[in-house]
Amino acid sequence: MAGNIDYSKVKDTNFYRNIGIIAHVDAGKTTTTERILFFTGRKHKTGEVHEGQAEMDFMDQERERGITIQSAATTCFWELNGEFYRINIIDTPGHVDFTAEVERSLRVLDGAVVVFDGKMGVEPQSGKVFHQAEKYRVPRLCYINKLDNIGADFYKSFASITEHLTDRATPISLPVGIEGDFKGIIDLVFKKAFIHKDEEGKAISEEEIPAEYAAKAEEYRNKLIEMVADVDDDIATKYLDGIEITPQELVEGVRKAVLALKLFPVMAGSSLRNKGVQEMLDSIVRYLPSPHDKSFTIEDKETNTEIVYKGEVPGTDPKTDKITTKKLLDSEPFCGLVFKLMVDHHVGNLAFFRVYSGKLQSGSYVYNSTTGNKERVGRIILMHANHREEVKEVKAGDIAAIVGFKDTKTGQTICDESSPIILESIDFPEPVVSFAIEPKTKSDQDKLGEALGKLVSEDPTFKARTDAETGQVIIAGMGELHLDIKVDILKREYGIEVTVGKPQVAYRETITGEGEHRELLKKQTGGAGQYADIAFYLKPRARGEGYRFVDNIKGGAIPREYIPAIDKGIQDSLVSGPLGGYPVVDVEAQITDGSYHDVDSNTDTFRTCAFYGFKNAMKVCKPTLLEPIMKVSINVPDEHVGAVTGYLSSKRGIIKNLLQRGKTKEISAEAPLGELFGYISDLRNLTSGTAAANMEPSHYAEVPRNVLEKIVGESKKA
Ligand code: GDP
Repeated sequence: MAGNIDYSKVKDTNFYRNIGIIAHVDAGKTTTTERILFFTGRKHKTGEVHEGQAEMDFMDQERERGITIQSAATTCFWELNGEFYRINIIDTPGHVDFTAEVERSLRVLDGAVVVFDGKMGVEPQSGKVFHQAEKYRVPRLCYINKLDNIGADFYKSFASITEHLTDRATPISLPVGIEGDFKGIIDLVFKKAFIHKDEEGKAISEEEIPAEYAAKAEEYRNKLIEMVADVDDDIATKYLDGIEITPQELVEGVRKAVLALKLFPVMAGSSLRNKGVQEMLDSIVRYLPSPHDKSFTIEDKETNTEIVYKGEVPGTDPKTDKITTKKLLDSEPFCGLVFKLMVDHHVGNLAFFRVYSGKLQSGSYVYNSTTGNKERVGRIILMHANHREEVKEVKAGDIAAIVGFKDTKTGQTICDESSPIILESIDFPEPVVSFAIEPKTKSDQDKLGEALGKLVSEDPTFKARTDAETGQVIIAGMGELHLDIKVDILKREYGIEVTVGKPQVAYRETITGEGEHRELLKKQTGGAGQYADIAFYLKPRARGEGYRFVDNIKGGAIPREYIPAIDKGIQDSLVSGPLGGYPVVDVEAQITDGSYHDVDSNTDTFRTCAFYGFKNAMKVCKPTLLEPIMKVSINVPDEHVGAVTGYLSSKRGIIKNLLQRGKTKEISAEAPLGELFGYISDLRNLTSGTAAANMEPSHYAEVPRNVLEKIVGESKKA
């Protein structure tokens, strides 16, 4: 059936669902996605993840690691009550090292299914993503998976959702049987049981709710109605008057509540056993938003408030810098957001984008409002997990990929030039870890630069540069695993093998005290001399406030035209601080006095003088190093908790919280990145492989004295 989709069956974009499946690693995202593709008729045979056939996992190393990294968009179709729906699945990564990828996909999807492991309930990552989704106003369905597993407990998992994530969650389906005896699900809205007669999901019989579940079903249906009643007055009145609420009324009420982010329906299932997946597809279509139902928020910089928009997407007008909007309609001028770049070996560079308004045709030109450049839209392609399909036109609500873009990057807006808009851009965290890489063979040297260029353009949290002094190639990213995966891609996709150096922490330098310094540059060499004289006053700024330049020169002690050169000279100096050559942050530099020479002074002499003067000024202001502190979250069986907390303390970690989750504890801690290299294998050894850990950058903090001396000593040696 590859490539032959009958579009005419899908009436219009009201029948579109752009969704993401989000989950903690191992909760069953890949299996669930793969089953969705199977049941929506895009696949003929289900492939087990462990056999390496899962459709969404494009790359070999993802399969090996069992994690999904690429944000691919996959299109499929579902029929409900004679209507055809188009479902675009935006793949979201399950690992915390890829926060940027999660945010990027949340930005463009309209609704999501959050998958939970029916034994583990809420895990650290599902919590984090759930809250991230709030920021992007993404309505969510919760899916408690793996109910066939020994130890699975639907009600406990549901309780962990209400305890840790939201008290606006309530079941819309209940499991019939559990563990090896898991037979099917009860739909609380329709008051029916769907009992699965086989493991392929082919034979499902619609039955009355089994007698032993009647009371429970009644109880949970009433809970659902009560929650819907909070947003739907008609249902509230009927419920209070004791009038029966029909399934159709409840469908509409649930949909309304879900779209308003006031209800997170919880569903039961086992993707591996094909139970609950088709029911989930029905719920996706019934309860999740179409592209026209989506609401957005934008921060109003003038009033510092968040504004919610419905039926239109907000952005900034590049000409006026004021908020502007586009209605989510085909009839509006075109605008869309590029959310993912990928290099496809067969077609070339793919730019995945979401259309918010208007239409776009292949072969046309489009305006990149972020860069101000025009780009040619070579071809437009719909991606299925295992084949591509060319289309002539896309319109508001569509998600597709463009072939032919030359210099458009992730997060940039493409639009109609006559009606420009910059959609909210995505903030990406700065890298905290780096290491040097070196190709094993000389012939790979040239290939390396090109390959890194592509990787950098695909992933805004990944950086690569050549060190000017040593000539080494340095790659930087969000964590060791993030960089390991890039090294893997170099090998597998580009055939470049590299040796890697020791991981380096992205330290920063700053000052902790105020101070004054006067720098004099005076050289008399033969003819023309050099002269500049600047008095500095430095003081520390709060974390994250960055650099600030203040001109306090009075009475023309230094002529106006040299002031910008001084600012530039200081900025040159900020690149490499006096302690260990790390970038300098959070300093205010005032210039308070100085002098000049009519002949020997110029912008260059002031720039040079400022460069050295700032470094020397820092030395009298109690300079210090800042180090990245990571937020660490570790799930570990009770018997290993002592070993892990002891380990964290030995790594200058601070335990923030200990939460009991069934038979495991979740340890939340903060620890300096510099102490955490190799922590994954340390944890494995300490806990016989039972710990599950996450970490992500949290903030920068001052390095303790004794550690400072060690780091500075090492960087001097290097
Ligand atoms: P992901 O990391 O979230 O993509 O999870 P996967 O889909 O790769 O699943 C992780 C593991 O759980 C695999 O071994 C799956 O076979 C298994 N799994 C997924 N869904 C189910 C389920 O419904 N029941 C059981 N018993 N195992 C499942």
